[in-house]
Amino acid sequence: MALIQCPVCKKRVSSRAAQCSHCGAPIASQDDEQTERAEARNRWKLNRRLQNISFVMLLFFLLGFLLFWYNKSDPTGWKYILGQFAMAVGFVGYSVVRIYKLVKK
Ligand SMILES: [Zn+2]
Repeated sequence: MALIQCPVCKKRVSSRAAQCSHCGAPIASQDDEQTERAEARNRWKLNRRLQNISFVMLLFFLLGFLLFWYNKSDPTGWKYILGQFAMAVGFVGYSVVRIYKLVKK
């Protein structure tokens, strides 16, 4: 059972109730299975998005590393600096996604 917002009075009512217990407005009730399926779909979508982000971040890190590696003979060049920057962004981004996933679980 979930609590939803009444469309009329905005108070929290049970999703199973046929009408609002506060103002009597009819509630379009979703059954539990439907709600659960929607939640599972949302979780899956979020997971996919996080996976995409962590993939991009990993790519960032790798490209940054390559740029850094191939230009290490010229530590003042923009490619070297950009490489280091991309590595840092990729590493931080990837870590943030990882930590977020751990916390969310
Ligand atoms: Zn109401």
